[in-house]
Amino acid sequence: MPVKCTADCGRNAVLKRPKTGDALCKECFFRAFEEEVHHTITAAKLFVPGDYVAIAASGGKDSTVLAYVMKLLNDRYNYGLKLVLLSVDEGITGYRDDSLETVKRNEQQYGIPLKVVSYEELYGWTMDRIVEQTGRRSNCTFCGVFRRQALDRGAALLGVDKIVTGHNADDIAETVLMNILRGDVARLQRCTAIVTGSEGVISRSKPFKYTYEKEIVMYAYFKRLDYFSTECIYSPNAYRGHARVFLKDLEKVRATSIIDVIHSGESFSVREGVKMPTQSICERCGHVSSQAVCKACVLLEGLNKGKP
Ligand code: SF4
Ligand code: ZN
Repeated sequence: MPVKCTADCGRNAVLKRPKTGDALCKECFFRAFEEEVHHTITAAKLFVPGDYVAIAASGGKDSTVLAYVMKLLNDRYNYGLKLVLLSVDEGITGYRDDSLETVKRNEQQYGIPLKVVSYEELYGWTMDRIVEQTGRRSNCTFCGVFRRQALDRGAALLGVDKIVTGHNADDIAETVLMNILRGDVARLQRCTAIVTGSEGVISRSKPFKYTYEKEIVMYAYFKRLDYFSTECIYSPNAYRGHARVFLKDLEKVRATSIIDVIHSGESFSVREGVKMPTQSICERCGHVSSQAVCKACVLLEGLNKGKP
């Protein structure tokens, strides 16, 4: 006997929702998924009508689903947003070149214009050349620092008001654990915020803050969205990998672990008198930094010194 959809629509269920365990048909799952994202957006007042919003798009499942859902909700609920896809080309042959092709197809499929900024044009280096020079040990450090700034610079070039990223609940819970293990109080305080950004910086928000990765995969699968699923060829990211495995183990014994870890992260606060880094402007490149010279400029200096 087929199981009926628990949303009482009369259709047969085809899936079990990871977040609630409900048996649902495809249509009711889509609706539940979209409504939760809509609720996250409206509860946190992420946008105001007229906002020009850049969707950080990598071609992967999270940002592809984010672009699709942002467009859908913008149309359904008249958010009044102007949307643009913003991609960073790190210069990784066999990975980013292919995933950018996916974003270019998304541009056509969703009718959202696309802007690509590259490490090559911004820093004079591709990740391929960085790895050639420095080896495979700290590639993700370079890449992470450069990507963060590249997104800001791309957003500034476009003149957008806000950036949205596809970080999901699993990513945020992993980051909470990593910051606890590292004792990184400043980041721990920031990482669960749904909106980040200070004076003079374009704010970033995470509409998928409470969305499970498994549901994003399911949504992309049932909607047959066009996304790129290969991992970066330089991906070691061992530390995050450990946090991920640990979280999956926790989930086996307690289904709500992901949301629980996020809530724990939210309730941390910094004791009075603890010195926190303050934001200022990098004296070399003029971008936001907590030091006199920003991390991107420091890394770049090291790279350029070793230039053959
Ligand atoms: Fe960059 Fe590392 Fe991610 Fe590859 S895995 S894209 S090198 S941060
Ligand atoms: Zn700088």
